Amino acid sequence: MSRAGLGRFGIVPPTVVREPTRDAENIPVCPECGHPVVKSKGSQRIEKPDLVHVALTAAFDELITFGWRCERHPYEIVLPMRVGGEDASAFVDGWTGVEIRFSDEHVRHVATPEREVSEHVE
Ligand SMILES: [Zn+2]
Repeated sequence: MSRAGLGRFGIVPPTVVREPTRDAENIPVCPECGHPVVKSKGSQRIEKPDLVHVALTAAFDELITFGWRCERHPYEIVLPMRVGGEDASAFVDGWTGVEIRFSDEHVRHVATPEREVSEHVE
C-alpha cells in the first residue's frame, strides 16, 4: 500500500525525513526532486518521528522541528536544519537538539523547542 493511500483510512503515515541538499548557489533544495525549498523555511511537523531515545519515542507522536519541507510529493517530506548537537541554543534561543533517525537510517540532531521535550519527559 502506498503512503498516500493510507490517509484515506485515517492513518497518518510517518513523515519522510531527509537531509536537505544545496544547489550550486547554496540554495536548499529537496534531495528527492531538486526543487528549491527555501520559501518553506520555518517550523515543520514530523509525524511518528523515529527518535533514538526510547523515552522520547514513547512520548512523541509528532515532533516540531525547524527546517524546510517539499510539497511536490504525495507524502510528507521534511528536511530539518542540521544542528551540531544537543545544544541548539546557538541556533535559536529556547530550542534544543534531539537525535532522530532519518529515512536514510542515519542518526542526526535536529532542533526542537525545549519546552516540547521538558513537557513530555520528566
Ligand atoms: Zn521534492
